[in-house]
Amino acid sequence: MSRDTAVLADGVPRPLDHAGLRALAERFGTPSYVYDLAALREAATALRADLPAGAELLYSVKANPHPLVIRELAACGLRTEISSLGELAAVRSAGARLEDALYTGPGKTPGELRSALGAGVRQFSVESLADRDRLARACRDTGTQAEYLVRLNGPRGSRGGSLRMTGRPTAFGTDWRARDDLAALFASAGPARPIGTHTFSATNVEDPQALAVELRQSLATSAEVARSAGFVPELLDLGGGFPAPMAQPGPLRRFPALAGTLAAALDAHFPGRGQDGGPRVAFETGRHLTAAAGTLLTTVVDVKRSGDRTFVVLDSGVNVLGGMSGLGRLMAPRTMPVPVLPAEGAGPAVLAASGPGGASTVRASLVGPLCTPLDMLNPAVELADPRPGQLLAVPNTGAYGLTASLVGFLSRPAPVEITVDGPTLVAARQLKLQTTEVEAND
Ligand SMILES: *Cc1c(COP(=O)(O)O)cnc(C)c1O
Repeated sequence: MSRDTAVLADGVPRPLDHAGLRALAERFGTPSYVYDLAALREAATALRADLPAGAELLYSVKANPHPLVIRELAACGLRTEISSLGELAAVRSAGARLEDALYTGPGKTPGELRSALGAGVRQFSVESLADRDRLARACRDTGTQAEYLVRLNGPRGSRGGSLRMTGRPTAFGTDWRARDDLAALFASAGPARPIGTHTFSATNVEDPQALAVELRQSLATSAEVARSAGFVPELLDLGGGFPAPMAQPGPLRRFPALAGTLAAALDAHFPGRGQDGGPRVAFETGRHLTAAAGTLLTTVVDVKRSGDRTFVVLDSGVNVLGGMSGLGRLMAPRTMPVPVLPAEGAGPAVLAASGPGGASTVRASLVGPLCTPLDMLNPAVELADPRPGQLLAVPNTGAYGLTASLVGFLSRPAPVEITVDGPTLVAARQLKLQTTEVEAND
């Protein structure tokens, strides 16, 4: 492996090299996000290869609603999983088929359901009897028919995951023991027809074995609940939990044993599945498909000492990267940027010093420009010789980046979002928050 390959494996995406990132930063300024369509294709291809043959894969748009991201993943044959009319609009502007979308979420309003049906969405995940009845009513109101999956809150499969949605009381799904509700949910309601189950037990399950346990548990719960309701499912959406590194260097994991494990479990729960069809299975993820495709370019604004600590102030804070994580609500802020090298050939020396304990590293708190101590991207990170003006790249920021951040807080401009396909620039755009007058009705 050449020196340069090692550098790139350290977090700067290939084939966009340091010179490429630097050129984008010079052209569009920082902070800016770079999304690489080639990396999206790579992640989608790898994940599909690790899933059981014939499985459907859905892209959860909330991880990154950029239309070019959605378009690329739809072109790879993925369906979309959406949960708002804004995400629906993003799918439409991506040119992806709304007939292939699954509409999910615990608080779908009647108006929202009518709009989704009117726009062509035909498959929904329903969370409760009331949710299902609202769907049936919206179908009648719009003269449409829809299929639905019954979202289940089943027993816990493992201890993994950074955020759990099942195995404890939550707003999501119907308890797997609520027999009467389930019996009613698995019976048709006029124009709304049940076709299967939906589970989503946890997200970001880092251990592949724990992930297999979660998915097998979801499958067992779905099969058991359907069986005891006398319901024959056509589709089992087993959710996901596929992990991805977030805002720090690291590779995307593969799951070489998963397809075999799940195919065996499917055969056990649905004997004769091969001959008489049996249920299709689907999986959903946002982060695993998009995280590695994104890089945040940011510039060091100031380096200062306070007491015994060093603070490195960036031009990106929780308004740009992971507002939810910045506030400690989701994941601890552990952002680890890597320097973008000044010029071809100058680099390895700089990067070589960037590892923990390297000769000229500084232990610092990485903060953003906002006037609040909550604007912390990493309380303690090793940085190579940080200095004002230095260009940094935060790898693995394609998921839960810009739109998961506090974009309105402190009223700073949003970063430019740059889309590339390998080394080729595709497009650049900037989110603008607008105020419009609302007519007072009195
Ligand atoms: C958030 C969510 C996902 C995506 O989760 P990731 O961690 O991005 O893979 C999938 N399905 C549902 C129902 C969700 O709420």
